[in-house]
Amino acid sequence: MSEDFSYKMKTKVIHAGQHPDKAYGAVMPPIYATSTYAQAEPGNHQGFEYSRSGNPTRLAYERMLAALEGGVQGFAFASGMAACVSVLDLLEPGAHVIASYDVYGGTYRLMEQVRKRSQNIECTFVDVTDLQAVAQAIRPETKLLWVESPSNPLLKIADLPALVKLAKQNNIMTVADNTFATPCLQQPLALGFDWVLHSTTKYINGHSDIVGGALITSDDSLAEQMAFLHNATGAVQGPFDSYLALRGIKTLALRMKQHSESAEILADFLSSHAAVEEVFYPGLKSHPAHALAKEQMTSFGGMLSIRLKGNGAQTVQFLKSCKLFTLAESLGGVESLINLPASMTHATLPDNIRLSMGITDNLVRISVGIEDVLDLKADLEQALNTIS
Ligand code: PLP
Repeated sequence: MSEDFSYKMKTKVIHAGQHPDKAYGAVMPPIYATSTYAQAEPGNHQGFEYSRSGNPTRLAYERMLAALEGGVQGFAFASGMAACVSVLDLLEPGAHVIASYDVYGGTYRLMEQVRKRSQNIECTFVDVTDLQAVAQAIRPETKLLWVESPSNPLLKIADLPALVKLAKQNNIMTVADNTFATPCLQQPLALGFDWVLHSTTKYINGHSDIVGGALITSDDSLAEQMAFLHNATGAVQGPFDSYLALRGIKTLALRMKQHSESAEILADFLSSHAAVEEVFYPGLKSHPAHALAKEQMTSFGGMLSIRLKGNGAQTVQFLKSCKLFTLAESLGGVESLINLPASMTHATLPDNIRLSMGITDNLVRISVGIEDVLDLKADLEQALNTIS
């Protein structure tokens, strides 16, 4: 394919960043399982010297990531957390960060238990859906605003353009963790964000068989700084996992369509079930930011959460009764997963903070897979009936 990345999303996910391989015309980029590359004479090589600095399989994948998010450059990391670390590495010691109070628990842990000590970074966690709260948190030394929308696990929607405007007025770099939405549903760079971050472990790869992370920017100078850090700190994605992620991306548009359609059906069903107190899904008209979600997303994605009417023990009973939904950490795979944030994904949060955020012992997070939605509905129904 030519370098024209202006194709529509369903075309980009198949072709962007790839050319038939020069050696034999392989249509998929081969897995270049090599740490180093022969040089004809010192400094005379074919564009690759050492696989930490660059690898052809990873490069094809990184070009795909950049094209999908509309950036100038993408960087593939060994995990989503490694990508988070590299964003913080752009900051000077003593910088102040503002982050969503419901960021992924690992991001919270990185800020509070690692970078506070090692980089003297101070992070204020605020409800980023409250613009006034964000504005009030800004200090002269604030250098970074970190946003997740939809948020995890309560599916809150932040006003991305408004946050970018506020940040730009105050010279604050912005990062949007787009793991839940993916570039198929939401494009933060087009809305003015400096960085998009992914745990590619989730929807980008989509098959629950790798751990990976990504950063994409549309700013040349930031890309140059990150290229240096990527090589200097070295948490790069290997060629095998780059290949798998690139393979997974081919069906990203199809998968996201199915995830979203099925999640909408299940959210409607769950809203009317007697054992369910509350459903958190931005596609529901009852969601407080449904109109905003409709504006900044093309559909609402495959993640939803429910608060059950029962107590913690009944919630565990419900989880154990699910047959098709696997009780597991993670999300975004083709298979449906179910999770208890209070003791699984969000267990690292101190109890008082977790409860103040609404992550109670009867809150269940669901990653809706692409199985037949009638089977998914039947499974949830039979499991709910065990506690109602
Ligand atoms: N961001 C979000 C929204 C996540 O859900 C996760 C992991 O669950 C991460 C970042 C961290 O990614 P990883 O687990 O790939 O290191």
